[in-house]
Amino acid sequence: MSYDDQNIFAKIISGEIPCDKIYESEFTIIFEDIRPQAPSHVLIIPRGKYKDINDFSKNANNDEILDLNKSISIVADKLGVSEDAGGNGYRLITNAGKDSHQEVPHLHFHLVAGKPLGPLLVK
Ligand code: AMP
Repeated sequence: MSYDDQNIFAKIISGEIPCDKIYESEFTIIFEDIRPQAPSHVLIIPRGKYKDINDFSKNANNDEILDLNKSISIVADKLGVSEDAGGNGYRLITNAGKDSHQEVPHLHFHLVAGKPLGPLLVK
């Protein structure tokens, strides 16, 4: 499946749809999830057109990959959820493809934190 230019995160990147932005850099944007599932729930996305982590890992350039990775600790510290910043830690999740239940076909990492998160998967 090719990248869908009409997906909601493409519209956030272009500015067509607003978001509650908490950080941005040359290659990466981070904003609040509209339906938070924890006290802190933000989405980390590349500006580039990548449908999931598989696409990004294969096709993004080193600057994009480095920038997105660096943005994770920047925002975890900024939100105060990283142990470095005195928080209790966080979970980072990304879905890729049908079985993962990915809903928006633009790569995004969920950073969730602010309460004990329990086991990774519901049995
Ligand atoms: P996933 O199931 O991994 O594709 O997650 C998609 C996430 O995008 C969900 O947590 C939604 O709540 C979130 N979401 C959908 N539309 C928006 C939006 N306009 N602004 C912020 N978050 C959104």
